Amino acid sequence: MSPLSRRSFLRGSSLAAAGLAAGALPAALQAAAPAAATAGAGPVLLNFNECPLGPSPAAQEAVRAILPASGRYLFGLRGGLAAEFAHQHGLPVDHVAVYAGSSDPLDRAALAFTGPQRPLVLADPTFEAVADTAAAQGAAVHRVRLRADGSHDVRAMAAAAPQAGLVYVCNPNNPTGSVTARAELDWLLANKPAGSVLLVDEAYIEYSQERSMLDHVRAGADVVVLRTFSKIYGMAGLRLGLALGRPDLLAKLAAFGSNPLPATALAAGLASLRDPGLVPERRRANALVRDQTIAWLQARGYPCLPSQANCFMVDVGTDGREFAAAMAGHGVLIGRSWPVWPSRVRVTVGTGEEMARFREVFALLAPARAAAA
Ligand code: PLP
Repeated sequence: MSPLSRRSFLRGSSLAAAGLAAGALPAALQAAAPAAATAGAGPVLLNFNECPLGPSPAAQEAVRAILPASGRYLFGLRGGLAAEFAHQHGLPVDHVAVYAGSSDPLDRAALAFTGPQRPLVLADPTFEAVADTAAAQGAAVHRVRLRADGSHDVRAMAAAAPQAGLVYVCNPNNPTGSVTARAELDWLLANKPAGSVLLVDEAYIEYSQERSMLDHVRAGADVVVLRTFSKIYGMAGLRLGLALGRPDLLAKLAAFGSNPLPATALAAGLASLRDPGLVPERRRANALVRDQTIAWLQARGYPCLPSQANCFMVDVGTDGREFAAAMAGHGVLIGRSWPVWPSRVRVTVGTGEEMARFREVFALLAPARAAAA
């Protein structure tokens, strides 16, 4: 699939099956967004791994407060956000680069570290944006199947392409929510192809209890870590993300151009970082609803991999795309399937109410079977 088509979140999604014509989508989604917190009031959006709670109250207040001043570029805000993150994680501030989301530095990493002679190695299934960009500039893409427990097969990844320029790991992984043990990632960092960079996408790390790879950034390793405010911080539409790495690695990403950042996103991001209760509270609430939903599915005979993120994959035992379209027909939009696992679909964890609606529609479409092992 081309980068353009993959990234046009609307095409191929189950929205069409919900009766929402492509041209009408922006308005339909705007209308749906406020209703999303109230199951039954509009489509239930469990399709893009967003946080159903949106920006925190403190972040929303910060957006309102900065708005009158945002006729200016407010360049200083970027440095303020970088300094706060650096301080919280014990990093030198020149190891922090701020972007409008993490998609941007992800693409830049593909541009900087892959090419016709420098392949990309990544898992299958995983978040494949980096593969689209690498392939577009002529890099070979080596996909290594996840292990049965959903972890990255780090030994196979290290051996997949001796000339690799970039090895991409998403932990916890999208779409599975599964994690790869820290010892395995340490092994991969020590044994990756000579001259390659390890890119660790930690978009969902705050949902888990996993240890970040930021200490390797601190130690000056050949690793770049990505973070986003689109997930647990509920700021997908505001756009804010971070690349963390040695200054020489970050300079390679920066070489592809710069763009001033939205003041609203920076203000909301700073307020979010300074809110000590936000991450633990959202992590706890998400885990509760996620684990209940997975237990319910397993008890009905539909296997799921263990997840430590705000999404999980369920094996519906039939064509996943058709199943998602049928769910959409009942107003519950779930995620997609990956070619390697056509009968599994990704489901984003919504609020308790939204997941109750998910269960209702799932039960309508998928009969209970012998319980999954
Ligand atoms: N990385 C992963 C693993 C993701 O799942 C996503 C979005 O779903 C992104 C990066 C990009 O997110 P954003 O550009 O909103 O930060």
